[in-house]
Amino acid sequence: MTADEHPLTVAFDADDTLWHNEDLFLDVHNEYEQLLSPWADAATVDDGLHEVQMSNLPRFGYGVKSFTLSMIEAAVRISGGEVDADRIITIIGYGKRLLDRPVELIDGVEEALDALGHHRLMVITKGDVHDQLAKVAASGLAERFWRVEVVADKDANVYGELLERHGIDPARFVMVGNSLRSDVLPVLELGGSAVHVPYPITWRHENEHDGHGIAVPTLEALRDLPQLLRGWDGDGELGPGLAGPAGMGGRFGAHPA
Ligand SMILES: [Mg+2]
Repeated sequence: MTADEHPLTVAFDADDTLWHNEDLFLDVHNEYEQLLSPWADAATVDDGLHEVQMSNLPRFGYGVKSFTLSMIEAAVRISGGEVDADRIITIIGYGKRLLDRPVELIDGVEEALDALGHHRLMVITKGDVHDQLAKVAASGLAERFWRVEVVADKDANVYGELLERHGIDPARFVMVGNSLRSDVLPVLELGGSAVHVPYPITWRHENEHDGHGIAVPTLEALRDLPQLLRGWDGDGELGPGLAGPAGMGGRFGAHPA
C-alpha cells in the first residue's frame, strides 16, 4: 500500500498506552521504600531515587536496566553505604520482575486497533530496545503495525528525524499516548497532532514539562480513539484545528490536560 491509501499515520506509545506498565513500577517503588525504611522515610527514599535516576538518564537512558542500576546506587547513597548484599539482590529481583512481567493489554486496545486498520499504524516507544521489542512480540499486536520504533528519547528532534526517515507528513500524523511530555508536546511542536490518553498513574519525570493546561484532545480510554479519528478520514485536514496550543480550540473539543 502506498501512503496515499491511508488517511493518517497513527502512532502509539507502548507503556501505559497499549499495555500496563506503571502500576508494577509503583508496586516496586513501594517495596523499595519499605526495603530502605531503616535509613529514611518513604518520601526521602523516593526523592533520593528520583535524583539518582535523573542524573543517570543521560548515560543510562530509559528502561528497566537503567532503573535497576539507579535503585542500587540510590540505596547505597540513602543508607550511607550500609545497605547489605541481601537488599542489593532484592533490588536486582525488582528489576527482573519488571522485565519478566507478562504483557497485559489495556482494555479495548485490540478493538481500537481493529477499527483503525485502514490507517497506517506505528509504535513509537522509548526504553531498552531488547525489552520493548520483546513486549511488542509478546503483545500479539505486532502484525498490526507498519513500523515499530524504539528510540532513546521522545523529543521533537527524534520525532522529526523519524517522520522524515519514514516519509511521513506531520500534517497527517497523529501520536497517541499517556504522556504529555513524551507523546504530545514534541509532536505538536512539529506541526503534528496528538491525542492524550492518560493512565491512572504517571511517573513523575513524565510530569516534568511546561504543557500543563494545554488544550489537546483527551480520551478516557483508547477504545474512544476510532470515533475521534473518524471525523478526519475524509479531508485529512489536521494540524492546529485538532490539537494546537491552549486557546486555539479544536474540531473535537479540546480538553485541558
Ligand atoms: Mg507511556
